[in-house]
Amino acid sequence: MKTIGVIGAGTMGNGIAQVFAQSGFDVHLVDIDSDALARARQTIAENLDRMCAKGRITAEEKAATCSRIASFTDLSAGIERVDLAVEAVTEDFDLKCEVFKRLDALTAADCILATNTSAISITKIAAVTRRPDKVIGLHFMNPVPLMKLIEVIRGYATSDETTRRIMDLSRAIHKVPVAVRDYPGFIANRILMLLINEAVYALHEGVAGVREIDAVMKLGMAHPMGPLQLADFIGLDVCHAILNVLYAGFKNPKYAPCPLLVNMVAAGQWGVKSGVGFYDYTESRKAERVSDRFR
Ligand code: NAD
Repeated sequence: MKTIGVIGAGTMGNGIAQVFAQSGFDVHLVDIDSDALARARQTIAENLDRMCAKGRITAEEKAATCSRIASFTDLSAGIERVDLAVEAVTEDFDLKCEVFKRLDALTAADCILATNTSAISITKIAAVTRRPDKVIGLHFMNPVPLMKLIEVIRGYATSDETTRRIMDLSRAIHKVPVAVRDYPGFIANRILMLLINEAVYALHEGVAGVREIDAVMKLGMAHPMGPLQLADFIGLDVCHAILNVLYAGFKNPKYAPCPLLVNMVAAGQWGVKSGVGFYDYTESRKAERVSDRFR
């Protein structure tokens, strides 16, 4: 594989583009929103600047990485001749199916089509293509450049060959792949989202405040970040979408999103990406101020 298409340049897409480019792959980064592409390039440049400052890469390596990333607002222009397409658009089943139908029509027959979905069925996405054996889940963790794990999800029809190539590729970009089967939320979010939702319920019921809940989990359970701060970094809209997939998939009320989370998403308080979530990011990106709502 030489050229990787990344579709969606948001929180995840820019990190995925960065790690492939850093490992020597040419990357075609596609987003319908030109501002998202500009922000992605800026984020990648800042990440690489930090690595330069720490002496982990040279200025030449930074320049070479940036030069390997081309950006496009038109999928048909950006996706021709890629060897692997990694979809990282908004967590919405209908949208992902539309994107996969177009990827199936636009890419070469031997191109592997991967999705970074957090919870949606790989099998159902694969079913809208004419190559379900070449569709697979490639679930990166946030922030992509720092996190070692990739959850590799085999759909019902994913072939051994596709799985082997994706496991090898994950190691080639210095990640650790773990193969799992295709059930709602796979492993990572099936477990993580229950933790986050329970933390939101504890806040909703007034058991403790934002800082207190996060402090208990950080100091008591040695989590590097509390669940409410982590939810802000993931995006409350993304957490809400994942919980809805789990709820619909298992038909079990334990996955129902907490009403407070539902309200915050409806109000546009999505965490870091919108400036306010459980914490306020408008003055500091370090989440030092608890959002006014929870003072
Ligand atoms: P995001 O909202 O930050 O970015 C999504 C991007 O997709 C936006 O820039 C949007 O303009 C773009 N987009 C929407 N429709 C498009 C289309 N038709 N063609 C091209 N681009 C389009 O979302 P995100 O947090 O980066 O999540 C992306 C995917 O990764 C989701 O499936 C999500 O569940 C998954 N994921 C997210 C996290 C996380 O921590 N945020 C972690 C792992 C996986």
